[in-house]
Amino acid sequence: MANEQLQEEYLVTARKWRPLQFKDIVGQEHITITLKNAIKSGRIHHAYLFSGPRGVGKTTTARIYARAINCLNPKDFEPCNECDSCKAVLEGRSMDVIEIDGASNNSVDDIRKLRENAKYPPISGNYKMYVIDEVHMLSTSAFNALLKTLEEPPKHLLFVFATTEAHKVLPTILSRCQRFDFRRMENDSIIQQIKFIAGKENITIDDESMNAIAQKADGSMRDSQSIFDQVVAFCGNDIKYSELANALHLIDKEFFFRISSSIKEKNLKDLFSLTNDIMTKGYDLQECLSGLLEHFRNILTIKVTGNTNLISDSESLKNKYKIESEKFEKNDILRILNLIANTEQTLRYSPQPKIRFEMALVQLASMDSVVDISQLIHEISDLKKKALTAKSSNVSSIEESDSTSEIAKKIKADLNTEPAKPVSKEADLKVNNGFMNLIDNASPSQEETYSKESPSAQTIENRWNDFKKEYAKGENGLLVLNQKEMITTVFFKGEIVLECNNDFLFQSIKNKQNEIKDYLVRFYKAPVNIKIVAKEQDSGTKKTNETIKSENRITTDNKETKFISSNEEPAEKTPQELSPIEQAIVDMFGAREVKIMSNG
Ligand SMILES: [Zn+2]
Repeated sequence: MANEQLQEEYLVTARKWRPLQFKDIVGQEHITITLKNAIKSGRIHHAYLFSGPRGVGKTTTARIYARAINCLNPKDFEPCNECDSCKAVLEGRSMDVIEIDGASNNSVDDIRKLRENAKYPPISGNYKMYVIDEVHMLSTSAFNALLKTLEEPPKHLLFVFATTEAHKVLPTILSRCQRFDFRRMENDSIIQQIKFIAGKENITIDDESMNAIAQKADGSMRDSQSIFDQVVAFCGNDIKYSELANALHLIDKEFFFRISSSIKEKNLKDLFSLTNDIMTKGYDLQECLSGLLEHFRNILTIKVTGNTNLISDSESLKNKYKIESEKFEKNDILRILNLIANTEQTLRYSPQPKIRFEMALVQLASMDSVVDISQLIHEISDLKKKALTAKSSNVSSIEESDSTSEIAKKIKADLNTEPAKPVSKEADLKVNNGFMNLIDNASPSQEETYSKESPSAQTIENRWNDFKKEYAKGENGLLVLNQKEMITTVFFKGEIVLECNNDFLFQSIKNKQNEIKDYLVRFYKAPVNIKIVAKEQDSGTKKTNETIKSENRITTDNKETKFISSNEEPAEKTPQELSPIEQAIVDMFGAREVKIMSNG
C-alpha cells in the first residue's frame, strides 16, 4: 500500500515543474510576450503553428495560452490556475481544450470527427481550442479536410498546431497560421532551470554535472529533466560528476584531452591503448568521435575568438581548453576536425569500426603541421629582399647573414648562380674570398684547393670577366685589361693570349705580365699562363696567327666575334643580323655567338 501511494505521489520532474504561466517559460520570451499582447489587444488568431525542436515548451505554451484565454480571473493576462476553467484544463477534463496527437489521429476520418465536434460552441469559456501535436504526421487528405475548417472557422474555434518539422506541413495550412518558431534551449537556460529545481527538491549537484546534463540534453529542456531524474535515481540527493558520468555512461572529458595530447606528441602507443580502453569500457565509438569533434571545436573557438565564451563547460575545463589551444595551429585544427568528421561518416558503415577508429587516430597523429601559405610567401619575399641588399652591398656578407632556414640558403644559392657558369656560385664565392685573402696575406690552407691540371679554354673564359674585376680592385690594378677596343682576348687550355693593337697599352701590360700571371694562378687556382702580343698594322695578324696555333680557339673582344684560321688571314666578318628570337636570347641571357673552327 505504501509503495502504491509513493508511486501515485511521484511525478517526473518535467511534469512536476512544468511552467504554469507565461512568465515561467524559459528561453522563449519572443513568443510568450507576443501571445500575451495578443490577449491584451483582443487580436486572437484562429490558427497558430508552433514549430521547434522537441522539449522546448511548445505544448506547454499552447496549454498556458488555452487557460489564459478562458480564465475567469486572469492576472496581467496570465492564467490564474485556480478558477474552474483553469483547473479543468490543468486536470485534463476540460471539454473546451482538446489535445490530439497528430501521429495517431492522422486519417481523414479523425479530422471529420474533429470538424463535427468543432461546430459546437465552448461549454464554459469563450474559446474552444484544439491542440494538434505532431501535426506534420497528418496525411495529405487529412490536411485537406482540415483546410475547410481553417478557411471559414467559427468565431469560437482556435487551433494550435505543434510540430518539430514545419517543412512537412502543407503550405496551404501554413499560410493560414501565425507561425512561432521556438528556440533551441541554451545550455545556460537548462543549467539555470536544473539549479532551480535541484534547489527546490533539496538536491545538491556540482557545476560539472549540470554542464554534462545540459550537453547531453542537446537543447531540450524536457530531455534535461528526464536525465536529471535518471541521475537522481542513481546518485541520490548528492550528485557528483564522477558518479553522474557512471550513471549516464559518459566518456570523461579527460579522455579527450589525453587523445589530443597523444596526437600532438605523435604518441601512437598511447593512442592504441586509449582505443583499447574505450572498447573494454563499452563506450560507443561513434559517441567518442562526436566528443572528440566537440573537443577540437572548443579549441578552435578559443583559437579564433581568443576567449572561452563559446564553450559551455565549467571554468576549470575552460582553462584546460585554453592551454590546449596553445599547442595547435588553426589550420591544423581544421584538418583534424575534417578528418574526424569524415571518420564519423565512414564509421557507420565500417564492418570493423574499431580498426577504422584506430586508423583515424594514427592518421591524426601522423599529420604534419601546416604552414600558413601567406606567412610563408611573406617570409620568402623578406629573405629575398635581404639577400638582394646583401648581394649588392657585399657578396661575401651573404655568407654571414643570418641563414636560419633551408629556404634562405636555397634562395641565396639561386640568386648567386649565374646561368653561364658551370661552377656553383657557392664554390665561386669561396674562390673569390680566397683570392682576396691571397692578395692580403696568403694562407696555407688555400693551397690545398689548387689544381695541377690546366683549366680548359672554356673554363678560363667563363671567369675571365670576374678576374678582370678582381684584378682591377687590387692595389696595383690598372684598368688596362678592360681596354676592349684595343685588346683581343683569345683563350686556350691553360693560356690566355692578349692581342694589343696599341703600343703604349702593349707595353703597359707587358710590364705587368708576371704580376698578372701570379694573380691568374691564384684566381683560377690552377696553372694559367698569359701571353701579350702586339698586333701589327699590316703583317701583325700573320704573326699573331703563328702564335695562335691551336685546335680549339675561342676569341672574344666583347664587341664582336672574330674568326681566325691558322692558314688564312683572319677574315673579319661583320656580325650577322640576329633574328628576333636570337636577339631575345641575347637580351635575356646575355648570350653571345661563339664559333668553333675545326681544322678540316
Ligand atoms: Zn483561471
